[in-house]
Amino acid sequence: MEKRRFIKPIVVSSKCIEFAACRWNGLMIKDDFVRQLTPFVEFRPVCPEFEIGLGIPRDPIRVVKSKGKLTLFQPATGKDFSRQMNVFSQSYLESLDEVDGFILKGRSPSCGIKDVKIYGGIDKAPVTGKGTGFFGQAVIDRYPDLPVEDEGRLTNFRIREHFLTQIFALASWRGLDKSMAALIKFQENNKLLLMAYNQKEMRILGQITANREKKKMNVVFAEYGIHLKRALTTTPRVSSNVNVLTHALGYFKTGLQGAEKAHFLKTVDKYREGKIPLSVPIGIINSWIARFGQEYLSGQTYFQPYPEELIQVSDSGKGRDF
Ligand code: SF4
Repeated sequence: MEKRRFIKPIVVSSKCIEFAACRWNGLMIKDDFVRQLTPFVEFRPVCPEFEIGLGIPRDPIRVVKSKGKLTLFQPATGKDFSRQMNVFSQSYLESLDEVDGFILKGRSPSCGIKDVKIYGGIDKAPVTGKGTGFFGQAVIDRYPDLPVEDEGRLTNFRIREHFLTQIFALASWRGLDKSMAALIKFQENNKLLLMAYNQKEMRILGQITANREKKKMNVVFAEYGIHLKRALTTTPRVSSNVNVLTHALGYFKTGLQGAEKAHFLKTVDKYREGKIPLSVPIGIINSWIARFGQEYLSGQTYFQPYPEELIQVSDSGKGRDF
């Protein structure tokens, strides 16, 4: 089986995760997944709090909601950093050339994308809700169709598989030769992946590729890019993955022993029950692709969505309901 060649995804990450000791307390967060990703990804680490002039170490800041308005407040100094953070976030995101995804520090008042504590006032007020950090919200607003995750959620194997699939698919799209032949091949190689992710968008992408209206190439590519991102936004349903896996089994009608098929179907059941990651049944299909030289499936990105060195079966067990 030919090994897929991957283009390195460009990922913006919170700098305090593995890159620098820039947290308010002068510490760095150790993260196995980000460390493991480093050879395969082009990281763009950034620390928004450092960038707006807060030193290291620094007095912590928090999100405060007062009179319906959110502010980024530093209790020790009484200063409001909302404006600086908003200005920095906009100018930094505008300056980014191309990007395939984000890994941000969970629950941070700046970088957090969910579960950030929101305090009900400036003076010893209690936590009254949860929300997003200022930089995290700016990222979500600007890139609604890009993968944006925090390091905590990425300890869950389903979220991690989805994130890796997205960033490597988007990187290969970004690096694609902008020719009609390359687009047709891209669509063909991603057929099963798109079938698992979003069948409606898969059909739209097929129509865009067919280009019956003879649109200009730049228009075709722009439309395809929008719909590809849209197709990959939502985690595929377990039942959709099961459909694709059983569809793939159909390519090995002859050659397999009954016990091998039974073992595969049992593995698919375990995947369906959330006991093992998708990479396990995919691994079985890959061994058959190599054994029988199944050419069509060997070209499908679904079976090699990201470098095999990144396959992990460990799971925090958290966040299964996403
Ligand atoms: S969470 Fe964001 S702002 Fe806070 S230290 Fe990390 S990178 Fe800097």
